[in-house]
This record gives sequence, structure tokens and C-alpha cells, in this order.
Amino acid sequence: MIIQEMTMSEFEEGLKKTKTVIVPVGTTEEHGSHLPLATDIIHVYEMVKEAATRVDVFIAPPVFFGLCRSTSQHPGTINISGDTFRSLVKEIVISLYTHKMRDFIIISGHAGGTHMSSLTEVGELLLNELPEVNIAIVSLFELIGKECLDVIETDGDGHAGELETSLVLYSKPHLVKGLGESSYPQIPPYFLIRDKRKYWHTGVWGNPTKASAEKGKRIFDIAVDKIVNLKKEFEKFKG
Ligand SMILES: [Zn+2]
Repeated sequence: MIIQEMTMSEFEEGLKKTKTVIVPVGTTEEHGSHLPLATDIIHVYEMVKEAATRVDVFIAPPVFFGLCRSTSQHPGTINISGDTFRSLVKEIVISLYTHKMRDFIIISGHAGGTHMSSLTEVGELLLNELPEVNIAIVSLFELIGKECLDVIETDGDGHAGELETSLVLYSKPHLVKGLGESSYPQIPPYFLIRDKRKYWHTGVWGNPTKASAEKGKRIFDIAVDKIVNLKKEFEKFKG
């Protein structure tokens, strides 16, 4: 049940089947010179929609904004503050809660540390504020975990690398402009860097030249299975 495509009456009818909603979250940020800026949300939104064909669950409209640190100065990245991000997610959850949703699964296609800890922080606040709410928070990369390592060949693959390029090649091939180049950031550990592009010019972390649509399909299918299982498992840990 894709909320942005439903009528008011269909929404009300859907609540008789489930009170669980998946909120897909991503970022709009650089993904090298070969992938679209909204990569983090594009494939996650396709995955959760596919999962919704297999289990009764609402899918909220995607959140296209999040916290980006190391990519914040690259062209096209739209970075928002932690305060704005937490308020945005909090108000989406509260609004859906007033419409009788009770169980929230927040899946993020972006796995940055500050971004994920902001989600956890707002989730904990909501547990205190909304007496009947249940919340799960996970990044796509935590969700697919070790199983995707059988598919991906690149050691230390990350942002805009083999995995993400494969996923976009599968889900939105017309948005992939070549396969980019293998590269890794040179950002020194511990230091907060003012000129971030100087240490990570390409915006690629990994080796996208190893990507393929076939690998993307395998990872996509793993992710959809995991999302379906998460929805079923969620029942066990509520309350
Ligand atoms: Zn990404």
C-alpha cells in the first residue's frame, strides 16, 4: 500500500489490514560522476514497494534528505541539519500515528554515522512521547549484511562503489552514466576536515567498475526478503 498513490478511503480501508508503515529515508548527495544524486533513496524505495507486494504494509512517501558530512561540499549534495532531520522524521511519525499507525519501520539507504544516530535519537524520543508506538530503525547495509559479501567482489566497497552501482544498474539503468572509476577517500582519521573535496575528489568509495545489473538483482532480492522478514519479525518485539 503505497501511501502517495492511495486515496483517503483506501488509506482508511488499509488500516483494517495493518497498522505498520515503512518509512524509506535517504539523502540527496553526490554518488560520483556516474550515479544519480538520489541513489540512496531510489533503490530503497523500489525495494520497499516490492516488499509491499508480499506483505500487508503501508509505504510512506520517501524522505529525500538526511545528514551528509563527507559529501556535503560535492556538487548537488543537499545537506540538512540534524535538528531539521530529527524534526522532519519526528513529525512524519507523529502525523501517521494520529492516523492510527502504530508500528514504524524506518529504513535508510544512507548509512552515515551522524545520520543513523540522529534517527536512533528521534526514535527513542518518540517511544517516550507516543504510548503505543513501536519503532525499528535500520540502514540498508545493516539489513543486507554479510549475505551481499558473496555477491560483491570489492574489499572495503562503500559509497557509489560496486554495490550501489549494481543496485542502480538493476533498478534504474537509464540513470547510470558509465561505471565511474575505482577510488577511495584519503580523509585523515580523527580530524574534522574543512576542505572535504581535497581528500575525496571523486566521491567514490570502492570499485564501481565491477558492478553489474545481475549483481544488483541478487542484492535487491536479498534486501526485499530481509524487509519482508523484518516486517514479520517486528511482531515479536513490539511493546
Ligand atoms: Zn549511497
